[in-house]
Amino acid sequence: MSPNGLDAKTFFEYQGGITYNDFILLPGHINFSLDEISLETNLTRNIKIKRPVVSSPMDTVTESKMAISMALLGGIGIIHYNNTIEEQVKEVRRVKRFENGFISEPVVLSPNHTIKDVDILKEMYGFSGIPITEDGTLHSKLIGIVTKRDTDFEEDRTKKLKAVMTTQLVTAPAGISLAEGNKILKESKKGKLPIVDKQGRLVSLMSRTDLLKNNDFPFSSKNRDKQLLAGAALSTREDDKERLDELVKAGVDVIVIDSSQGDSVFQINMVHHIKKKYPHLDVIGGNVVTARQCKSLIDAGVDALRIGMGSGSICITQDTLSVGRAQGSAVYHTAKFSREYANIPVIADGGIAHIGHIVKALALGASTVMMGGLLAGTSEAPGEYFYEGGMRVKKYRGMASQEAMEKGGGKRYLSAEDRVKVSQGVSGTVVDKGSVVHFVQYLMQSLLHSFQELGSKNIQELHKGLYDDTLRFEMRSQSAQTEGSVHNLYSFKEPHLGLLRMNR
Ligand code: GDP
Ligand code: 5GP
Repeated sequence: MSPNGLDAKTFFEYQGGITYNDFILLPGHINFSLDEISLETNLTRNIKIKRPVVSSPMDTVTESKMAISMALLGGIGIIHYNNTIEEQVKEVRRVKRFENGFISEPVVLSPNHTIKDVDILKEMYGFSGIPITEDGTLHSKLIGIVTKRDTDFEEDRTKKLKAVMTTQLVTAPAGISLAEGNKILKESKKGKLPIVDKQGRLVSLMSRTDLLKNNDFPFSSKNRDKQLLAGAALSTREDDKERLDELVKAGVDVIVIDSSQGDSVFQINMVHHIKKKYPHLDVIGGNVVTARQCKSLIDAGVDALRIGMGSGSICITQDTLSVGRAQGSAVYHTAKFSREYANIPVIADGGIAHIGHIVKALALGASTVMMGGLLAGTSEAPGEYFYEGGMRVKKYRGMASQEAMEKGGGKRYLSAEDRVKVSQGVSGTVVDKGSVVHFVQYLMQSLLHSFQELGSKNIQELHKGLYDDTLRFEMRSQSAQTEGSVHNLYSFKEPHLGLLRMNR
């Protein structure tokens, strides 16, 4: 065994399928501080983002709330398609319209609603500051606002809002910046600041309680029009061409063709269709795990590739169909080929079970990582929390689980129209991880430390080391893996989440 480990080519040439757990990265030389590290990377040929993280197009992971947070944090979210065209488009629009600190779709009422209606909204959503517009819809003329102070002591809850609302309003014009809005809120000492257009129609709302939360997100992923970036998934089916047109109208920035085995004539035809009709729209193809598959999709015209087959935490493809590849080998071989063949970035999708797997995926040549299970269970993931065995959990399911397929999610699997559906995924639960904003910030800080230990200032440098053999790998025996994890404790608390774990 070499005293300094092995270079990637030697390491991957002589081994079978390698997973993230099978190897360790050997340390490099540190000659810089953490704040000199940049995590900027290419999501696709043309789209750059500042943090290498992508949320997976799954119906228990990415809708607009997740996509907004991921983009604010410098990554991107891909809106799933296990829904109607209208529903998917609505989610994309929400991301595109989002302005940090501005509530873009505030709940509004009309002057003819009653205090009881405000009580119901308070019960449902937890807030009671409601703008009143002429006809009770957003984008109609703002004529007043109802707050707790207007309704607290009213005994007659059937009273119409026009009798109690405040009509002396402090408003701000559409287009003001977050800093200007915050200043007006502070100076006016009001609880809410309605934003109106030139005709006095309500556009959005700012809330005093959000002042502290209205941080700037210096890494946020935006397009030239300063809108957050949004991705959306599309299947290879003919009728999804209409979905594509609607997503483009909604302003989608990148399309992910979501298919479990990407090297198909169906996907190639869809890529040709998209590139002919929307030549400037970036397309991510996949999923693939071999150089041969990469070549088919790169020749078809994709701008990035999604790598992984059967490595996801909810996947049973490898057991069920006996087709797929260990994720470490898949990422290394596809990334190397795609870089040499056409300089196309690859996304390591699935199997990111721990923080440490992110740096391993990047070290194998991926430009970004896509996560499902790690982001599921955050408050921004779709679905409600519930208790299971005393733990607060959320549902997380594979898109080819029986449950998701019954709702239409099997579109990424060619079996979707079969009469007997073969599941390639399971449905389960994951623990409450709190807000994805804090969780991803924690992941990114940890990633900076990994980069420093490796002596790489950025992802490009890490890749350079991978291909010029200065990045060194070593195989981990089973006992090396045990040694590298917590051992000889009866129980311990996990970092970050603080969950109590019984030791193996
Ligand atoms: P209120 O004074 O009873 O309206 O409630 P707070 O101002 O204390 O809290 C309202 C919270 O809900 C803030 O964090 C808002 O950003 C959030 N929120 C989300 N959507 C809406 C909405 O449509 N209207 C209002 N008023 N708040 C909303
Ligand atoms: P995770 O991050 O949870 O390990 O993996 C998420 C990835 O698993 C997704 O991005 C997608 O590629 C893949 N995936 C999602 N649902 C299923 C499924 O039902 N079966 C299989 N085989 N893969 C799935």
